[in-house]
Amino acid sequence: MFKMGESVVPDMPKTMEVVCTDDSCEFDMAGLHFTYDMPDDTGVDAFSCPYCGGDVAEIEV
Ligand SMILES: [Zn+2]
Repeated sequence: MFKMGESVVPDMPKTMEVVCTDDSCEFDMAGLHFTYDMPDDTGVDAFSCPYCGGDVAEIEV
């Protein structure tokens, strides 16, 4: 019987692309690169626009 080997592909730290939800804000898009130490449940709610301080939304790229 085969024994499943350990995965050789480590989970990469999560990345996400965010945009400012304020249409009038000049901030366009930014990529957030998480570290391994970031809790898994850290979401876009934890961040705000670095330009206007408003909410940001995650986008799929
Ligand atoms: Zn903004």
